Amino acid sequence: MKQEEKRGIRMTVRISRIKKTLEKELKPSRLTHTTGVAYTAMALAMRYEGDIKKAEIAGLLHDIAKDIPSKRALKMCDKWNIAVTSIEKRNPFLLHGKLGAYYALSEFGVEDTDILNAIIYHTTGRPKMSLLEKIVFVADYIEPGRDKAVRLKEIRRIAFIDIDQAVYEITGDILAYLKTVEGEIDPQTIQTYEYYKNLLKNRAAVEKKDDNSITDDED
Ligand code: FE
Ligand code: FE
Repeated sequence: MKQEEKRGIRMTVRISRIKKTLEKELKPSRLTHTTGVAYTAMALAMRYEGDIKKAEIAGLLHDIAKDIPSKRALKMCDKWNIAVTSIEKRNPFLLHGKLGAYYALSEFGVEDTDILNAIIYHTTGRPKMSLLEKIVFVADYIEPGRDKAVRLKEIRRIAFIDIDQAVYEITGDILAYLKTVEGEIDPQTIQTYEYYKNLLKNRAAVEKKDDNSITDDED
């Protein structure tokens, strides 16, 4: 058996074990959301030619630590030497990405750093995300079970056209929403928003320059 085939089988076994654990441990609404994120992440991976299996694993595990009560979450971080920022201390639900990555590694043997980072940053995003990180971040927001966010229909459409723009639109909407409910804003979300805003602006400037040089050539 070729090395690649062996790896493929091991990957399949791991996914079935992950699914069994999720079915046993997640409450029904969380399981529906998780399944939705996994399928949406796989569809986005198809669209952007990413790794479909990695998208499935990251999607399945992204919220694995979401139901851990705040006090316990903080204790676990302390025990495992996971750095906790001051905003995370005040809003411990923000830790479920970091804790989820720890679970993925320790319980399911997920060693792929791209998958682990996609789990860690799925709530806030971060500047310069990898394709997989963007896929999980966007899938978490647009999966079919979501119905509360404004502009969902539009963002779902953008997600399959331009994933960088989708990250920009989503972080912009999250920041606008948090302002209306006076929720505390994680500076990491602002950094993500600013980074993707500039990225789109620079891209548009380059495109405009290219357009102008084409017109100049024609003259
Ligand atoms: Fe989450
Ligand atoms: Fe989620």
